[in-house]
Amino acid sequence: MAKLFIPGPIDVSKETFAAMSRPMIGHRGSEFEALYASTQPVLQELGGTTRPFFLSTSSAWGIMEASLKNLCAKKVLTLCCGAFSDKWFSVAKSMGLAADKIQVEWGEAISPEAVRAKLEEGGFDLVTLIHNETSTGVMNDVAGIAKVVKSFPGVLFVVDAVSSFSAVPIAMDELGIDVLLAGVQKALALPPGLTVFACSQDALERAEGMPNRGYYFDFIEFAKNAAQNNTPSTPAISLIFGLQHILGVIAAEGVKNRYARHAANNAMIHEWGKRRGFKNFAPEGRQSVSLTCFHTPAGFNQSAFIKTLNSKHGFAINGGYGKIKGLTFRISNMGNETPATMQELIDAMDDVLG
Ligand SMILES: *Cc1c(COP(=O)(O)O)cnc(C)c1O
Repeated sequence: MAKLFIPGPIDVSKETFAAMSRPMIGHRGSEFEALYASTQPVLQELGGTTRPFFLSTSSAWGIMEASLKNLCAKKVLTLCCGAFSDKWFSVAKSMGLAADKIQVEWGEAISPEAVRAKLEEGGFDLVTLIHNETSTGVMNDVAGIAKVVKSFPGVLFVVDAVSSFSAVPIAMDELGIDVLLAGVQKALALPPGLTVFACSQDALERAEGMPNRGYYFDFIEFAKNAAQNNTPSTPAISLIFGLQHILGVIAAEGVKNRYARHAANNAMIHEWGKRRGFKNFAPEGRQSVSLTCFHTPAGFNQSAFIKTLNSKHGFAINGGYGKIKGLTFRISNMGNETPATMQELIDAMDDVLG
C-alpha cells in the first residue's frame, strides 16, 4: 500500500491507529464526557474561538449540507472557485433553496469586492466559502471576505476549512465566522468519518427559528449535547480517541510550530516545481500551504509519472480532480509530514523524472 501524499485522506500515523484501538466505552457517561471535553481546548485554539466544537459522525459534506438546512431562511450566496465550492451551489439547489453564486475560473480566488457587489443586490442571509479549495490549490482571502460579509447585517458566514484547519491559523471569533467546519481526514491526519465544527451564537439563534431541521444534523441538538460534553447520537468513538491523540500531538508540537512546519514543507514542493519547470495552478499570493496543484505541462506523461512513483517508491500523489483531472496534479504536505519525509518524496519524484 502506498504512502499517501494525496490531498486527503492522508497518511495516518501508527500512534494514531494505536490510540483508536483502545477498548470501547459507552457514550452516555463520564468517561466519554471527559474524552469529549479533552478535545475542546486545542480545537478552539486551532479555530480561534471560545465557542464549543461539535463532533459530527459524518464526512464534511454532512455539515456543509446541514449548514444550508439550519441557516438558509432566505437565500444563500455560494462562492464558487473549484470542485468543492461549485458543488456546494448544486447541493443548495438540490435542496430546493434559493441560491445564487459567484463563479470564477478554477485556479482563481474569490475577490472580496465581488462579494460586496453581489451582496448589495440584497435578499441574501447566508454566504458559503471554501477557505482552501482543495481541487485547485487556491487559498481564499477569508479575512477580506469575512470583513465584507460582516458589513451586511443578517448575513451569516459559513467557512469550510477542511484542508486548511491546523495547517494555517484561522480566527473564527475575530473574523466573525458563523460556522467553521473541518473534516478530520485532511490536515488533522485521521481516518475519514468525523467532522469538527463550531457555531456562533448568531448561527444558533438562526437555527432555532428554522423549521424542518430534522434530528441528525440539527445544530440545536449539537449545542444542547455539547453543553454536557456529548453528541446527539452515538458518535464514532474510536475516531474521537484518534482525535484526542492527534490534538495532544499538536499541543506538544505547539500550533505555531505546526503552522511553520506546514509552510516549510509546502515551500519545498514549490521549490521542486520551480526546479523541474512545473507551474503552479494557483496564482501567486493565493496559493495553499497545505497542498500544491501544478499544471501538467504539454507532452508530459503525467499518468506514467504517478504510476511509477507509486510502483517503484510507494508514494501516491493525485492526478487532478474533477474537470481538471489530467490537466493538473496535486501533492499534499498536510498532517505529520516533516522536511525529511517531504525530501523522501522529492528524491523519489526526481528519480522517476530522471
Ligand atoms: C475533501 C473536502 C471536502 C469533502 O469532504 P468529504 O469528507 O468527502 O465530505 C469538502 N471541502 C473541502 C475543501 C475538501 O477538501
